[in-house]
Amino acid sequence: MKTIGGGVEIKRLNRIRTMQYILDAKMVSRQDIAAALGFSMPTVLQNVADLIECGLICEAGEYGSTGGRKAKALSIRGGVRCAIGVEVTAHHLHMVLSDLNQKVLDIASYRFPYQNTQEYYVKLGELVQEFVKKNKLGIENSYTLIGVGFSLPGILDQDQGMLLQSHALGVFNINLGQFSYNIPYNTCFDNDANNAAYAEITDKQQNTIYLSLNDTVGGATYINGRIYQGDHYKSAEFGHMVIVPNGEKCYCGKRGCLDAYCSARVLKKNGEGTLEPFFDGLNKGVSENERIWDVYLEHLALAVSNLRMAYDCDIILGGNIGGNMEGHMYIFEEKLRKYNNFDYDTSYIHLGKYKRECSAIGAARLMQDRYIEKIETFSVN
Ligand SMILES: [Zn+2]
Repeated sequence: MKTIGGGVEIKRLNRIRTMQYILDAKMVSRQDIAAALGFSMPTVLQNVADLIECGLICEAGEYGSTGGRKAKALSIRGGVRCAIGVEVTAHHLHMVLSDLNQKVLDIASYRFPYQNTQEYYVKLGELVQEFVKKNKLGIENSYTLIGVGFSLPGILDQDQGMLLQSHALGVFNINLGQFSYNIPYNTCFDNDANNAAYAEITDKQQNTIYLSLNDTVGGATYINGRIYQGDHYKSAEFGHMVIVPNGEKCYCGKRGCLDAYCSARVLKKNGEGTLEPFFDGLNKGVSENERIWDVYLEHLALAVSNLRMAYDCDIILGGNIGGNMEGHMYIFEEKLRKYNNFDYDTSYIHLGKYKRECSAIGAARLMQDRYIEKIETFSVN
């Protein structure tokens, strides 16, 4: 077993930055690392040698020659580390196992209604442990589980370790430790929209607004390489921006919130079930569905235009609606231009790439990043 440690803090941080850069870029050369991070070549060579010897990265081929020696391509070594993401919702539990390359190795969903009881938290731990056992981690494969990231629907105070408020779960001031009470691994927590954004944002250098369009509307603000939480952990509550004064009633108690116009429930029969019947009808040209969709896109265009005005950055439309928007972008972009005289080009709009378990995937990714940020030594058995 090789262990790296004992160096001065700056050396450790340089190694972590090198690891994070390779993790984000997927495939890089030593020269890329030196240029991107501003490290000297001897520093890069040492960091890369250490990370290779520890088994966390590997040489994965060569770049084409530009005259001199061919540069070796470096990437994260597969089959070494993995993390679990757990998304808790009012009625379900979704779990995802992914490796450091963001490859999803397994997915499981259970109907598991949330209750703030000891019984629920004990069973939650049992389900996670069954998922670990089912995947035979470290037994029939070489993976080591680095931890479990949780995604919760609500406002979290990370410093105090509290779920301050969750409309979806119907609770206030819950200690986050309850969720990990029966889980013998490292854990981390974030809210569902932040985690979904974390899964969808591939370019960490790009400022991005993530708009989550599910049965509730939420979002995340990703600025300067981080999720902006706000002074009171309430940033990016885009669903409760009022877009129609005295409009439709929102579940939060106000009227005219974006959520009342652009949640997926608006498109579902009686607000329940899946979106399939609506989009099937829309694609078959059912006039009522076309009318509802037109109104939906009008409100969405208004909100997206306002977000673009406020933040001047890329915007990802995510959640179940984002997953169904392909093929409808022309009409949406036309509506968007009507509200926005500053940007004729709408290439700042992107659609989410994960059609399901997006928050759980993001929670696993957050756990992986926390592992790399906090690690004192890198080692591989
Ligand atoms: Zn509201």
